Amino acid sequence: MKTAFLGLGAIGARMAARVAAAGLPLAVWNRGDTRADEFMRANKARRATSPADAARGADVVITCLSNSPDVVSILDGPDGLLAGLDKGSTLVDCTSGEPATSRTIAARLAERGVKFLDAPVSGGVAGAEKGTLTIMVGGEAAVLDRVRPVLETFGQKIVHCGDVGAGHTVKAMNQALLAIHIWTAGEALVTLVKEGVAPAVALDVINASSGRSNSSMNLFPERVLTRAFPRTFRLALIDKDIGIAAAVARQNGVPAPMLQLGADLFKIAHGELGELADHVEAVKLIEKWAGTEIA
Ligand code: NDP
Repeated sequence: MKTAFLGLGAIGARMAARVAAAGLPLAVWNRGDTRADEFMRANKARRATSPADAARGADVVITCLSNSPDVVSILDGPDGLLAGLDKGSTLVDCTSGEPATSRTIAARLAERGVKFLDAPVSGGVAGAEKGTLTIMVGGEAAVLDRVRPVLETFGQKIVHCGDVGAGHTVKAMNQALLAIHIWTAGEALVTLVKEGVAPAVALDVINASSGRSNSSMNLFPERVLTRAFPRTFRLALIDKDIGIAAAVARQNGVPAPMLQLGADLFKIAHGELGELADHVEAVKLIEKWAGTEIA
């Protein structure tokens, strides 16, 4: 199956590398040269000159950009995706994006006989490298079945979640839970330290009790207590994700004050800590406000 991959960022490059390693004919495109140069040095692919050039002749076109407005920004114009997508092909958007925007994109593509799936991923850059990502998919099940062999090059658990937008909604809510778990664990542990309890002791108890989460079991022991704070997933991206979750709740008339508060807190943390900070570094803001480190 002829594949095109657009967006060779931290996770996109690793997903595209899996497609190339599986031997599928692959065209790649990235907005800036640096990441495209790096990809071409390590992988076998055709380097496309524009989104339209990448899409031309491809059965499956995958996008993995920062957010949905970025995907919309590469659709139009003589070099845009719409100019290159063939009738009968499928656009698979692996961006963690906005369900409403994806429904609009899907409708525009349908007019041209092109199918659309939203297919955000989870599992991080390590999962992408190993090909063990979870992929949550919105769109027609039959279309997913057709493109499944391409998705299986980087995904292990591929779940059809519902109509177009369902993948993005599941992803946004997962990210909102992650963000809120990080934030509340940060507040709890700073308070415990102020009360004189060693954070490792507190985590030992919490992780054998009902308050545990992936944040308390993995992120805090490996990244906060060690002060390592590795940069694997940008705070800017989780700020975007929980913002989407809060917006979708509002659009559905769901009273969701916790999602909105979480979105506001991660926006503040993103503003304070900058574009390059990792998502777990949000804890540093809680520490700063409290004047106490979790150590
Ligand atoms: P990065 O920030 O590393 O890369 C972003 C990519 O999007 C780059 O290729 C960038 O191109 C491209 N891009 C951004 N804006 C535009 C635009 N306007 N037009 C064209 N290209 C654009 O992000 P990641 O690779 O980490 O993440 C990609 C998506 O995957 C995000 O939605 C993220 O939330 C999601 N995700 C990421 C995970 C992770 O662990 N990193 C885990 C799960 C999901 P350029 O090089 O030119 O800047």
